[in-house]
Order: sequence, then structure tokens, then C-alpha cells
Amino acid sequence: MSLKKSLRNQLATTLLSSAVGLAASFSVMAAEQTYVTIGTGGQTGVYYVVGQSICRLVNRGTEEHGVKCTAPSTGGSVANINAIRQGQQDMGLAQSDWQNYALEGTTHESFIAQGPFTDLRAMFAVHNEPFTVVARTDSGVETFDDLVGKRVNLQNPGSGTRGTMEVLMDLKGWTRDSFKLAGELKASEQAQALCDNKIDVMIYSVGHPSGAIKEATTSCAAKVIPVEGEVIDKLIAENAYYAPAIIKGGMYEGTDKDVKTFGNAATMVTSANVSADTVYLVVKSVFDNFDRFKKLHPAFENLDPKEMIANGLSAPLHEGAIRYYKEQGWM
Ligand code: GLU
Repeated sequence: MSLKKSLRNQLATTLLSSAVGLAASFSVMAAEQTYVTIGTGGQTGVYYVVGQSICRLVNRGTEEHGVKCTAPSTGGSVANINAIRQGQQDMGLAQSDWQNYALEGTTHESFIAQGPFTDLRAMFAVHNEPFTVVARTDSGVETFDDLVGKRVNLQNPGSGTRGTMEVLMDLKGWTRDSFKLAGELKASEQAQALCDNKIDVMIYSVGHPSGAIKEATTSCAAKVIPVEGEVIDKLIAENAYYAPAIIKGGMYEGTDKDVKTFGNAATMVTSANVSADTVYLVVKSVFDNFDRFKKLHPAFENLDPKEMIANGLSAPLHEGAIRYYKEQGWM
């Protein structure tokens, strides 16, 4: 090979490798622009606080890891799971019952229509969410069965609360016609509707203390109603994702004694299609800063990491979450 030719070859190789180098640095830059979206719930709920808190922790390191996190308000659990399935959200908050129903493709018509969501993945559980019924004191509602014939807000389709209410309605043999009015207001709209006397009852599967329940019970005379009896006992006994729950007396004006109900866990879910590195980063941001996270809402006060990665999770853990939990020696 002549010297000239070999030089030319060398130059070509150099050019080529610098082009590759350039492409590589472009792809690093592209990776630096990663966005993570966490679906939450109404702005007066606790999911919104969870999502915003997680994003705040993730975004403290954006300069270093390049991931930017946003947590918009959404319609709630069922809407979040469907948005994750369609690739519109990377992660989201969802009730443990709806995590299970989505995985199995049951209970909600949208889940039945799509079949089992086999790519659904769990990250961790957060706080407990008692199924909470609040009635105007002048409505005469004292028990859950008293809802029949009243103006009841069932919430928007897409909320986990609405879904769980429909599960209860089926068990009780109730339909929308069982109520004088079956409202579809969003979670954030119902406290005002209650106090404007547009509805007698609002329902909310939510962590406590909840801004929405505080708003209702401080703006007008309203109280928390127990949800108990044989049907509820059976529901809890047959399904691991439901558990007995108590709403502590004194937490809300007008409700001095403990109120018995049942509840689910709030959980963070994602899809197997979301990269392990992204899920790892989000999980790490929460648990590396856990004391800070716990201070962001009173409902997080008693959270324990080992319980959070075991309880209320029907879907398999995401591999990125497992990586972090193994590093910590939690599994
Ligand atoms: N559990 C509720 C739902 O899925 C949302 C509660 C909240 O926003 O804190 O509809």
C-alpha cells in the first residue's frame, strides 16, 4: 500500500471515528433531555402531593442525571393506569384494588375491553386510603345504606373512588337509579357542591388528612359516615388488596369519634416498557431522601420502606425498582 493511500485510509478512519464520537455525544445530550411523567389525581387529594413530592426530589438532581419530572393533576387511578398503558404517562398513582383489576383485566369496563395488562409493573406502595363517605348533617344519612334515595356524588369515571363505589354498588344490588341523584363531579369539586347543598354525600378513597374532606367539614355541617357490615367484611376477607380502616376521631370537624370503614393502599405503578434506569432513578430519589419525603404530607408519617415494597402490590415489581431494593438489601 502506498504511503498516500494509507494516509488517506487513516484520515478516513479518523473522520469516521470522530463522526461516531459526535453521534455518541449527541445521543448523550439526547439522554440528558429525558422527561418522566407521573399521573396523580385531583389537586385537593393526596396523590397530587405524592407526585409533586417525588418530582421535587427527582428534579433536585436534574443537572446531574438529566431527568425532568412532572406530575400533572389527572382523573385518578383508572385514568392513570390507562394512560400508562397507552404510553401517555410513564408512571402513576393507583389504588391497590385497581392495580389488581388492571393486571387481571377485570371489573372496569375499560380493563375488560383491553384484557389483562401484563406489562403493568409495581414500584412501591405509599399511604393507606380509607374509603371515605362524608354526608351533610341535615341529610339524615347515618350509615352507608342510608345513601339510597339521596343525592350522591359518584365522582368522574376514571377515578379509583368511582370504580370502588361501583364495586360496592354491585355488591349491594344498587344502580345509579338507587340514588335521587348520581353525580359525576371530580374529587376537587365535591366539597363545594356538598356545602352549596347540591349533593347530600361525597365519597373519596383518599389518604388522611385530606384537603377535600377538610374543605367540606370546615365550610358546612358535615360528618364522616361508617362503611361496615357483612358485605364489607366479605369483600375484605376475599381480597388481599382491601383491608379494614379507621378514620380517626378529631381529625375533621363534626367527627369526634373513630369511624370504621375499609380501604386500599395507594401505589406507584409503571409499565415494563419504561426503562430500568428511569424507574431506578425515581425509586432512588424517593428512598435516598426518605426522611425528607415523609415530611411532605402527614399521611406519609408512618411509612416504612420494607412494607412499601411488599404490601398492596399485585403486579410484579419493575426491574429498575428491584435493582435499587437489592442494593439496599431489602430483598
Ligand atoms: N384514590 C383516588 C382515586 O384513584 C385518588 C386519591 C387522591 O387523589 O389522593 O381516584
